[in-house]
Amino acid sequence: KLDFHPSGRHFLQIPGPSPVPDRILRAMSLPTIDHRGPEFGALGLELLAKVKVIFKTTQPVIIYPASGTGAWEAALINTMSTGDRVLMFETGHFATLWEKMALRLGLEPEFLGLPGYEGWRAGVQANMIEDRLRKDTGHTIKAVCVVHNETSTGVTSNIPAVRRAIDAAGHPALLLVDTISGLACADYQHDAWGVDVTISGSQKGLMLPPGISFNALSDNAIAASKTSNLPKSFWAWDEILEANKNGYWPYTPNTNLLYGLNEALDMLLEEGLEQVIARHQRWAVGVRTAVEAWGLEVQCQEPDVYSPVLTGVVMPEGVDADAVRRLIYERFDLSLGMGLGKSKGKMFRIGHLGDCNDLTLIAALGGCEAGLKLSGVNLKGSGVLAALEYFSQNRPHHVN
Ligand code: PLP
Repeated sequence: KLDFHPSGRHFLQIPGPSPVPDRILRAMSLPTIDHRGPEFGALGLELLAKVKVIFKTTQPVIIYPASGTGAWEAALINTMSTGDRVLMFETGHFATLWEKMALRLGLEPEFLGLPGYEGWRAGVQANMIEDRLRKDTGHTIKAVCVVHNETSTGVTSNIPAVRRAIDAAGHPALLLVDTISGLACADYQHDAWGVDVTISGSQKGLMLPPGISFNALSDNAIAASKTSNLPKSFWAWDEILEANKNGYWPYTPNTNLLYGLNEALDMLLEEGLEQVIARHQRWAVGVRTAVEAWGLEVQCQEPDVYSPVLTGVVMPEGVDADAVRRLIYERFDLSLGMGLGKSKGKMFRIGHLGDCNDLTLIAALGGCEAGLKLSGVNLKGSGVLAALEYFSQNRPHHVN
């Protein structure tokens, strides 16, 4: 419970849902229209075309009225058959949940990973995937499934390296990638990276409320969907692709979230995707500068794959990260991400994505710094001042 009567805006600095801009809230507040009428069809065609730009694809993108978990399931059941082996990589909590889902769906997941807790502080090791695929001479592995931006740890894996690993092994497995928290924050290229199904969601870089998720497809994925035998109806791509040709869905879509999506796509395209990506990179450097000034560790131990979306801040031995987070919430009305799964209590996560700016981040870092001190954590210096200095000295990069 808050320590005081709330005033001003709550600081939602979890790595998704991210704050929804007023412009999107207004777009979503318009009256719901007939989802079989001409006005809706025009909207559907417009946003199905625009959303491809964000995924950097010319291929179909399916939009589901569901959270990201639904799109995970859709990707697997549309392409796989009972008992198919899928190779997954343990980067953190979300990779682990996806692996559990594969098991529940009747697939045979094989979970690669670094030993111990190491894998939760690093990205996907493409060499391990290549080694495993080389040994699979009978091609019993049907898909490689990896998380691009692991939201539980703050690690953005190198997807082109995974593609290269599959190709180097001469293996036909499909590549399925979860970029639920990476899209419209980190660089992502569905076509150029040779991804077969990209899974994403609305409540992160797209700045929307939860409730929409995506599957971007490839020809190979669509071909696989024609022979895959896992039961599917609501999630089946074929009927959706058919209805989408005219801008409609086979069922009632979430019309008002689609208004929001259309507005979000306009905002991102007006700014330019390269600029959006540069902005997130810069914020991430500012936040890591603060963590370093505090003398604390970032969860990710591989600088090449630091996430531009969020930063995991590791607590010193004996400090309960959840207690620190709770205090920060109660005293400063600031929400931070908790440590999930194996990292529970060991770290908290600062989201720096979507609709924020230098000063909202400085405020969030201010809440963290004060909360850490009040929790008795010995800080080396001021992260707030270090980040402010970084933001002052490094003007936003304009890509036009
Ligand atoms: N995958 C990743 C990387 C996520 O960050 C999340 C949610 O945070 C999910 C999957 C699950 O998505 P949802 O909670 O929208 O079902």
